[in-house]
Amino acid sequence: MKYEVVIGLEIHVELLTASKLFCGCSTAFGREPNSHCCPVCLGLPGSLPVFNRRAIELSVTAALALKSEVQLRSRFDRKNYFYPDLPKAYQVSQFDQPLARGGYLAMEYEGKKKLINLERVHLEEEAGKLIHAGDSIIGAGHSLVDYNRAGIPLLEIVTAPELHSGEEARLFLEDLRTVLLYAGVSDCKMEEGSLRCDANISLRPAGSSELGTKAEVKNMNSFRSVELALDYEIKRQQQVLSAGGVVNQETCHWDEEKKQTFSMRSKEGSSDYRYFPEPDLLPLVLEKSFVAELARTLPEMPAKRRERFQEQYNLEKKEAFMFTGNREMGDLFEAVAKIYRDYRNLANWIQGDLLYQLRESGKKIKEVEPALLANLLRLLDEGRINRPVAKELLAEMVQTGTDPVDLVKERGLEQISSRESLLPLLEQVIAENPEAVENYRQGKKKALAFLVGKVMAATKGRADPAELNRLFEEKIQG
Ligand SMILES: [Zn+2]
Repeated sequence: MKYEVVIGLEIHVELLTASKLFCGCSTAFGREPNSHCCPVCLGLPGSLPVFNRRAIELSVTAALALKSEVQLRSRFDRKNYFYPDLPKAYQVSQFDQPLARGGYLAMEYEGKKKLINLERVHLEEEAGKLIHAGDSIIGAGHSLVDYNRAGIPLLEIVTAPELHSGEEARLFLEDLRTVLLYAGVSDCKMEEGSLRCDANISLRPAGSSELGTKAEVKNMNSFRSVELALDYEIKRQQQVLSAGGVVNQETCHWDEEKKQTFSMRSKEGSSDYRYFPEPDLLPLVLEKSFVAELARTLPEMPAKRRERFQEQYNLEKKEAFMFTGNREMGDLFEAVAKIYRDYRNLANWIQGDLLYQLRESGKKIKEVEPALLANLLRLLDEGRINRPVAKELLAEMVQTGTDPVDLVKERGLEQISSRESLLPLLEQVIAENPEAVENYRQGKKKALAFLVGKVMAATKGRADPAELNRLFEEKIQG
């Protein structure tokens, strides 16, 4: 039988606040375990939570970026469960009155535009972090717990079950990450756990409108493992169903080492959590003007920017994807494009030599000064320096932030392209290399490159190579 795969994602994103959701403890990553805790985030008796305004701003911003409808009144509930990473034995979360409902993300898959709908966006607190002996929960003899993470503001984004393969889910997640980075609400580092994803997967006979029994997959720590884990789970369910079995409603754990999912426990339904309103917090009531102000300051989102880049700068689709897939890269392109109009040339330099130099030097795009990059390209356009010199200057500019114009002046790097300056050098090289000259005369192209190289060496790379080629041809071939 042919099956249709149905996938819904629950994405958790740690918000970029300096302090936790209900207390003043720091949210810094990677510190001494249990050093950023207080009675509030440890849930000690008598402690009371106080809202972090910044967390609310960031969650509303995220909801707006995802076209989710912000609810002016929402409520926090206690989600009760016992697990060692949860010091209070309940998590303050939102249940039937979430911060935002609906929304969507536009993506492209297999050449087609698609909208993936969202069910809700809500705010909750992080749990602590368990560190399992031997790094895996499976077979661990003991686990340690770090409460530094407990209470960090966490946004949960729930998609409708509208994804249909591991690859599509991965691409969706990558696009979602780009949107959240543009909105500036999270650093979205999967490797540090500030972006995490659980997936609900079920299969149904193709054409059927009823959903099959779903399994939930957890612990996917990279975009790649999301795709691998989902593909694995899809295959597993296919085998179970094809053999006439039934898929259990369960929670599975992705094992990165073994590249397979393991059943952890039967999946809870929401009634298992005994949600009830958090008595220590008032409902969250937002002013319309507060939401409107955040909407006003929201930057242009990547999908829109992508289209604009294609139109305004005449970039190819692939390039527009690349330049807008990373906000800083798009920002640099636009900052230079304001003062340097050859967009084609600019795009080539950024995606080629500049990216290479950034990788080599370990510098960040943000550190590149747009005006200096424009200066460099102008020096080249005006023929004042040649290409090899331009590449060297770019490397130095990236490394030290020095203006290429100054470097050219200081070091006398201006290109030598006048006939009078080049001819004596050329004649000397011809006199000293009779064999190469003869080879060139007989049509060997490599010999010309050798001769040109000699003059380049004599001028420390400053001669105009095109002019040299022309002059050699004239001198030797007549
Ligand atoms: Zn605290």
